[in-house]
Amino acid sequence: MKIIMLGAPGAGKGTQAKMISEKYDLPHVSTGDIFRANIKNGTELGKKAKAFMDAGQLVPDELTVDLLLDRISKEDCKNGYILDGFPRTIPQAECLEKALNARGEAIDFAIDVEVPDENIVKRMGGRRACVSCGATYHVVNVPPKKEGICDKCGSDLILRDDDKPETVQKRLEVYHAQTKPLIDFYGAKGVLKEFDGTQEMSKVFADIVQVLGA
Ligand code: ADP
Ligand code: AMP
Repeated sequence: MKIIMLGAPGAGKGTQAKMISEKYDLPHVSTGDIFRANIKNGTELGKKAKAFMDAGQLVPDELTVDLLLDRISKEDCKNGYILDGFPRTIPQAECLEKALNARGEAIDFAIDVEVPDENIVKRMGGRRACVSCGATYHVVNVPPKKEGICDKCGSDLILRDDDKPETVQKRLEVYHAQTKPLIDFYGAKGVLKEFDGTQEMSKVFADIVQVLGA
């Protein structure tokens, strides 16, 4: 099963992708996580990506598409995967489609998690991410057992630089201009499934499972 997660930054794509990954035993491929790992490791790609990410902009397609296509060509992706944060532009979606077509493959589901912009700003301000394993929490909705400490690995939790309110506003603008058109793109292909992401996360997940199959 090949799945794409769509939705605004902070809509809950990563949260749902992790649950889908566990239930259906599919790798969770997040381009944001790949960029953050590169930043942490001080790679050339990380240095280039950081400037765009901190400004709330998209990393250019030239730096993103090959990275993603390479990742999904790995052995663990041969039975499918969940793409979280890719594609984010129509050209990215077209490149993905071309690469899949060449192998006689296609995306099975594009899962759109819908949350209005007003809710997003609140959610992002409360999001905390583990500096080490990337697990995410929310100070109110999904608090860690011990404040500021990751339940899974014991490392510190931080507010991501790009989750600060002024950057979130920019990211939302970028989302509406460049990423939202993907909803129509995948709608036209007949694989779009829309979900109300303002519900509790377990309810959103239950709705998704109804569509993907138990
Ligand atoms: P995305 O991957 O789309 O950027 P996340 O999955 O990281 O979004 O979720 C953003 C924030 O909102 C996180 O702090 C997360 O814990 C919280 N969150 C996710 N889903 C829900 C939900 N259904 N209700 C309330 N908070 C949520
Ligand atoms: P995310 O973790 O998905 O919220 O992504 C964090 C940031 O990484 C985004 O705001 C972009 O700057 C960058 N990024 C992640 N995925 C992509 C992508 N597919 N195309 C361009 N930039 C991306």
